[in-house]
Amino acid sequence: MITPILILGAGVSGLTAARTLSTRNLNVHLVDKGRGVGGRVATRRLGNREDIRGRWDHGAQFATFRSPSLLKQLKDWSCLDVMQPWIPGFSDPDVARNRPIDGMNDFAKALAGDLPVHRSHRIIRLEKTARGWTAHSESGEQFHADHIISTLPIPQFLDLARESALEIDDAEKKVLEQVQYERTLTLLAELDGPSGLGDNGYRRINSGILETLIDQQLKGISPSPTLVAHASPAFSLEWYDRDRSTAASVIRAAVQEKIQARILTAQIHGWKFSKPIQRIPHPFLKLSNGLFLAGDGFCAGDDSVAPDLHPRIESAMLSGSAAAHYLLSR
Ligand SMILES: Cc1cc2nc3c(=O)[nH]c(=O)nc-3n(C[C@H](O)[C@H](O)[C@H](O)COP(=O)(O)OP(=O)(O)OC[C@H]3O[C@@H](n4cnc5c(N)ncnc54)[C@H](O)[C@@H]3O)c2cc1C
Repeated sequence: MITPILILGAGVSGLTAARTLSTRNLNVHLVDKGRGVGGRVATRRLGNREDIRGRWDHGAQFATFRSPSLLKQLKDWSCLDVMQPWIPGFSDPDVARNRPIDGMNDFAKALAGDLPVHRSHRIIRLEKTARGWTAHSESGEQFHADHIISTLPIPQFLDLARESALEIDDAEKKVLEQVQYERTLTLLAELDGPSGLGDNGYRRINSGILETLIDQQLKGISPSPTLVAHASPAFSLEWYDRDRSTAASVIRAAVQEKIQARILTAQIHGWKFSKPIQRIPHPFLKLSNGLFLAGDGFCAGDDSVAPDLHPRIESAMLSGSAAAHYLLSR
């Protein structure tokens, strides 16, 4: 496949970059290892396509938008039609935490529109060519492009660069190596009734094993009582590489103590790169080898907000948008 611009990763950052470029009639393709779009903006369903009994947003729970330019773009792309205000913001009650009606992944799908996304293609090697770049996928597919924007979490990009024996300037590598992510172990539980978590279903625990509990029925996305429990960063780090079924049992027991309903079933999901805790203080980077990097490892948008409450989805989108605008300006 040959395209002027290839974007690695169809999370919100890659999708925003692609949408920005395609709005200006540029031919752009995305490639993602996942079966769908959205990356960490993810929704899992219980039941079959015709009869969905329950849902879990098992990654990001909400999105806040402060940037007037991003809000305008989202409106123009009809992405706000799927969003509803859910809870007032942490730091600014006037900035609502929004959620889509049927789950966070619907927002990513709205953002994707009819963009060409090559799904289920894990990129395992990048090669610099006379024309620009070739991205090689695990399944043997080759994507040739003049320009590549990578929106992979930076540690994953560095792994890819290492496996590709890609030359990266030492100073640039040093900057990239500073990016750090939390890990998150997430429990997806089916309940036998209401959790008793209160009006909006969102409870921050932030101590010991648990970080947040979110009743997905009270949140308004699940027909049946389901609950998501994000374990704390410390617990997730300690347990990430240990036996997952034991970790699930420990989280399940901690959750059970906090809710009124009984947990019927529980699955565990691991996010190796969940939320960035150390980011690069620029909206995006163009490396001296010509590659563009964007994503939530960069600081884009309103940094007057405390870093631990930083709107990460918005920042990731603004990062993708900044890389796209830079390319357009060239
Ligand atoms: C548990 C959890 C809770 C969160 N809660 C919130 C919240 O409530 N609000 C908020 O604003 N943010 C939240 N976040 C953070 C937010 O989800 C992310 O900051 C944002 O979604 C990042 O988007 P992105 O496009 O930069 O990266 P991603 O969504 O990670 O997109 C990168 C994409 O690259 C793909 N990829 C990776 N490697 C390859 C490869 N080799 N080849 C091809 N494709 C590849 C992945 O499949 C993925 O789709 C949360 C995250 C997690 C995990």
